[in-house]
Amino acid sequence: MDREAILAAVEAAGVVGAGGAGFPTHVKLKSACEVLIVNGAECEPLLQVDKELLHHRLPVVLEGIAAAREVVGAKRAYLAVKGKYDSLLRKIKRHLASRPWLELVPLPDIYPIGDEHLLVYEVLGRRVPPRGIPLQVGAVVLNVETLYNVAKALAGEGVTQTYVTVNGAVAEPGTWSVPIGTPVEEVVKAARPLLESGSWAVVSGGPMMGEVVDDLSQPVTKTSKGLIVLPRDHVVITRLSAQQALLRWAYSVCCQCTMCTDLCPRHLLGHPLWPHRLMRALAAGGPVDGEIAAGALLCSECGVCDQYACFMGLSPRRVNQMLKAKLGPSQRIPEFSMSEAIRPGYVDGQVPAERLAAHLKLARWNHPAPLRGMLPGGTRVAIPLKQHVGVPAQCQVEVGEAVKPGTLLGRMAEGKLGASVHSSIAGTVTAIADGKVVIERDGSDD
Ligand code: SF4
Ligand code: SF4
Repeated sequence: MDREAILAAVEAAGVVGAGGAGFPTHVKLKSACEVLIVNGAECEPLLQVDKELLHHRLPVVLEGIAAAREVVGAKRAYLAVKGKYDSLLRKIKRHLASRPWLELVPLPDIYPIGDEHLLVYEVLGRRVPPRGIPLQVGAVVLNVETLYNVAKALAGEGVTQTYVTVNGAVAEPGTWSVPIGTPVEEVVKAARPLLESGSWAVVSGGPMMGEVVDDLSQPVTKTSKGLIVLPRDHVVITRLSAQQALLRWAYSVCCQCTMCTDLCPRHLLGHPLWPHRLMRALAAGGPVDGEIAAGALLCSECGVCDQYACFMGLSPRRVNQMLKAKLGPSQRIPEFSMSEAIRPGYVDGQVPAERLAAHLKLARWNHPAPLRGMLPGGTRVAIPLKQHVGVPAQCQVEVGEAVKPGTLLGRMAEGKLGASVHSSIAGTVTAIADGKVVIERDGSDD
């Protein structure tokens, strides 16, 4: 396939970044760069999608890496995986001889090493500027599952399934391929929660950056990676749930210990982000605006400050989220500059993943989550027309229409940033509401 054909296939398949906010992959692939970095770090505790895909679907992922490297014109590609996965590293090494352009980079087991800024520094020794993207230092970063989907796109398959790790207080932790649009509750029940109904809660996306799922009928999407089941009174659930309320008094009790800044990974890289100063400004009363508010844009929302650093349980991250949401189009965004070098505490301030899991009282819930194949799915899916950065896809089906896996439900809007959306099951469209296409399974072969 030539470059244009690969780009067209990836666009038609609706591939988006599976490890983050869902940036359309065909747009990213249009960049020309020197190196491609494959992000297999998956640093959120308990999540294991990338590890399982690399173990069990390696040839497909390698095909995706080769296609992406060709499209962006990169001389080299780096596959970055945690160094602690010995057998996986050995398996990958066996495929390197025939791919001299690909290098394996073992990563330290620290959080949040999967953050693009940290990953690029770890792999290339280059620092992405504040608010910048890896392309500014010659790199494109794509996640493992995204590249798996790129390879499937080359075979003409739209993104209809997503890989999800279900872990925590469950009898059968595992990683499933799930039809997009399946309710969270159905996916969680496949892993058989250990506790009685009503006494557990689910975090979607991982215990550090995830959110507690209030409504278990919500669908999994292209960017779903993990569903963590925990007792309702577990510290991760109570902290994530309470942080919104904590905002009201957080500023006044901050003792300015600076731990949030000392351990902030973006600060340690040299970005001008000082979470404790933000808390001080808020405690001083008046509205926070100008440069301090704009500084919130530098926050990756990794959660180190609130889930790990702050012994008072305060949340500079939530404050940053709030400030980002409030920044209007008239807000002047200053030119942010980096320190000349990484800060002296860069190494000492790193958060070992094992210590983090123990700190979050997750050690007993951190089980292996082997690949368990495709979740059969229930009778109904609700597929959002927007699962990506950009504008929603334009609906292409009507109520009453029969669809099968791969049927185009929503076409990417012409000339806009976005991605197409496809059906994940065979059935009939029964509703189109709230930005979702609802499909009832008709029992025919998927
Ligand atoms: S770690 Fe907590 S108490 Fe210390 S400065 Fe940061 S927000 Fe304030
Ligand atoms: S969430 Fe906290 S620790 Fe992470 S980048 Fe933002 S301010 Fe820094």
